[in-house]
Amino acid sequence: MRIDILTIFPNMFVPILNESIIKRAQTKDKVEIFVHNLRDFSVDKHRKVDDRPFGGGPGMVMRPEPIFRAVEYILRYASKGRHKTQDTRHKTQIILLSPQGKRLNQKIAKKLSRCNHLIFICGHYEGVDERVRIHLVNEEISIGDYVLTGGELPAMVVVDCVVRLIPGVLGEKKSLHFESFEGNLLEYPQYTRPANYKGMRVPAVLFSGNHKKIEEWRKKQAIKITRQRRPELLKNSA
Ligand code: SAH
Repeated sequence: MRIDILTIFPNMFVPILNESIIKRAQTKDKVEIFVHNLRDFSVDKHRKVDDRPFGGGPGMVMRPEPIFRAVEYILRYASKGRHKTQDTRHKTQIILLSPQGKRLNQKIAKKLSRCNHLIFICGHYEGVDERVRIHLVNEEISIGDYVLTGGELPAMVVVDCVVRLIPGVLGEKKSLHFESFEGNLLEYPQYTRPANYKGMRVPAVLFSGNHKKIEEWRKKQAIKITRQRRPELLKNSA
């Protein structure tokens, strides 16, 4: 998979992309991630990318030209990279991070993990010129019903949950076997050593060696936890 991120704050991505599983996914060549500074695509001699809103009102709006130009540049050069995008109509998603978008969930993350090219546009200030949304973007994603200062953190959230779903990125295949939101359940409780920490004991069934029993216990726990904390998930599975 190839991922391109358009932002006016490229440095914000450096620590996230260079640690842990996201870093390893790149070293293992499962994903290629490029962060582009939108100012490099500005049409203004001072590299400005925003302007006052037509019709008045507070704040600044990101101009359309740098964003269109950056996407055109990427689409032109993406086909030459290591992870070639063969069919740009179906496999390239141009995503705008926006509080007005579809709320991110595991289903959307899975769908995106099957694409071979994702382009993320991070807004800032009051947002981006509406023509970007209408004529350029084919998906708008929100990470929740609250407003952030920019699309950078949301883009990182989406990249993180999509990249870990790419086959071969997580060490053990089984890590994806049963997880929260698989089959509309939250995950069962996890324990590790020590078996007894200051009198706080790990449930005995987990030492039984009886895999069937352990499986049953986990399933029961998952249902119990889901019923207590997120009952609406159980309704959705019906
Ligand atoms: N004035 C806009 C909010 C702009 S916030 C409005 O009322 O809708 C500035 C930028 O931050 C947005 O363009 C978007 O890219 C990003 N952003 C803020 N909150 C977000 C959220 N919940 N999900 C995804 N992106 C968000």
